[in-house]
Amino acid sequence: MASHDNPDPTPRRERILAQLKADMGRLYGLGEAQVDAQISFIALGADSLLLLQASQSIEERFGIRIPFRLLMDEVDTPALLADYLDRELPPEGQPAAPLATVTPVVVETAGGGSALERLIEQQLELMTQQLALLRGAGSAAAPAAPRQTPRTVRRAALASPSSVRPAGLSFSSRQQRYVDGLVERLSRRTAGSRWLAERYRQPLADGRAPARLRREWKGICYQIAAQRGEGGRIWDVDGNEYVDITMGYGALLFGHSPPFLSAALEDHARRGMRLGPQNEIAGEVAELIRELTGVERVSFLNSGTEAVMAAVRLARTATGRDKIAMFTGSYHGSFDAVMARAPDFAHEGEPRALPAALGIPAPALHDVMVLDFAPESLAVLRRHGPELAAILIEPKQSRRPELELGELLRQLRALANETGTALLFDEVITGFRTHPGGIQALFGVTADLVTYGKAVGAGMPIGVVAGKSRFMDALDGGTWSFEDDSFPRADMTQVRGTFFKHPLVMTVARAALTELRQRGPALQRELGERTAELVRRLNRIFEDEDVAIRVNHFTSLFVFAFDGRLLAADWDLFFHQLLENGVYVWEQRVCYLSTAHTEADVDHIVHAVRETVVQMKAGGFLDVRRSRPEPVLAAAL
Ligand code: PMP
Repeated sequence: MASHDNPDPTPRRERILAQLKADMGRLYGLGEAQVDAQISFIALGADSLLLLQASQSIEERFGIRIPFRLLMDEVDTPALLADYLDRELPPEGQPAAPLATVTPVVVETAGGGSALERLIEQQLELMTQQLALLRGAGSAAAPAAPRQTPRTVRRAALASPSSVRPAGLSFSSRQQRYVDGLVERLSRRTAGSRWLAERYRQPLADGRAPARLRREWKGICYQIAAQRGEGGRIWDVDGNEYVDITMGYGALLFGHSPPFLSAALEDHARRGMRLGPQNEIAGEVAELIRELTGVERVSFLNSGTEAVMAAVRLARTATGRDKIAMFTGSYHGSFDAVMARAPDFAHEGEPRALPAALGIPAPALHDVMVLDFAPESLAVLRRHGPELAAILIEPKQSRRPELELGELLRQLRALANETGTALLFDEVITGFRTHPGGIQALFGVTADLVTYGKAVGAGMPIGVVAGKSRFMDALDGGTWSFEDDSFPRADMTQVRGTFFKHPLVMTVARAALTELRQRGPALQRELGERTAELVRRLNRIFEDEDVAIRVNHFTSLFVFAFDGRLLAADWDLFFHQLLENGVYVWEQRVCYLSTAHTEADVDHIVHAVRETVVQMKAGGFLDVRRSRPEPVLAAAL
């Protein structure tokens, strides 16, 4: 912002608006000119995570905190936000929040590799321009002003004379008819699930519920309640049948009712809970994991989140270091120290991490750095190597299966060897699903610590932390024998849980691992080939129908990637329509095929997708040339 020796004649509100449009544009993957000041953030394609990022960006930029809920309801357009900030900021001439030089924003994207690549390219280009600008101006961004608390946000926002309330998404009458029809039919058809959602909204606080909430079709924003699952299908409380491609978020590699499951459950029911004493088969289960994956030692927890938490703690204990590095676009569960994102504004000096959700204190991420998949990141890692306890990475990102990381993994392996850092693979999704030995075996790169979950429990709650003795020994001090004078020697930390090695979970895991051992890598290979064929058939539909969606996959995991020119509305409606056509996909939209899916199930998926495309096109959706001339990065949701 101009200093007051040389005042900028543009009214401050206009300058704020221009800055907001630039910032929001980058956050959304758009150019500044493409952000309409009167269109609501939601209509532009934001979900709550993006709004949270917007709220944090605004605070970083202007020093004013705006709860993201307000961005949804009250101060919900760039114009209203500019009014609000102009009112809340101290008068010009007093120390004020600077409108700092524009710097690029890193947006986490889900799916849509081509959109992502474009976005990264745009950002790199922007960064180059900015660096040139900064060099030319010889100045760095001014420090942020102290935080202010918004006073009466509601009053301020609504009192704005220049406010024009947006109408949310604006549909043509044809589109509106389509949306109304879908809402009417789907809510009638799944009335039981809808009733459950409404009846228990108050007693049951459920973080999944708001995930895809949209005003425009809120009448169908509820989860389908399942009554029964069998093979690759589920039946909801209204008796509707669906082919399930959510498959327990990837946990149900063997489907809803693997043959080995009932025997394990019966065995457990006969013998009671047995919590407390050592589980008689935990050792055997550990041995099976060792055999399949090549890890040295294994420990059991209840979830992937706990496994990652434990792995980070073990790495920190064994190295005596605190810092960890991770990568953008990853998900490692909901442990504070890994719910991190890169800051929106480049800061002088070192990479940092910011909380990816409210309620996570910034100091929890003090020793965390979030890096881009960029060559510079290797230099950063090399520089910080001696301070790094762990480099944490999803060796295949579930939301971007097309992202090829093999070479990076090899480079990270070499780097971690040089610096004594733990290379930590989060294989909660890829473990056992992609190969009996997971990505380690597929790519031929050995990690120091690995986390598993999901598939190995065949639907039971499980987390596994495994790896080299050097790190795993921090759990129990290391191995020793009754027969000599050996004793635990390694420094120990604490990772404990009431339900660790739960007898029921161990019984099911043993059965799943035994099945995996018997069937060998052919199981994953064949399932991967079946998925590839499904993906080919789906992509043929999109090509034939000239629809800008493509499906990407890695082994039996697949993701519908929406072209950046489609609207967020297309993305959401696609999955609602697919549900009406008898295919169930969860809110984060990562899909899986299981060994239980039959050819008839696969045919049903193809048929349902074709129907969905035809219905949506007839309703005026899935058309990249329609209503809005500017693109919206739907895939960024
Ligand atoms: N790591 C990865 C890569 C994941 O995908 C997930 C969950 N999807 C987790 C960790 C957390 O696992 P959980 O939900 O079992 O806590």
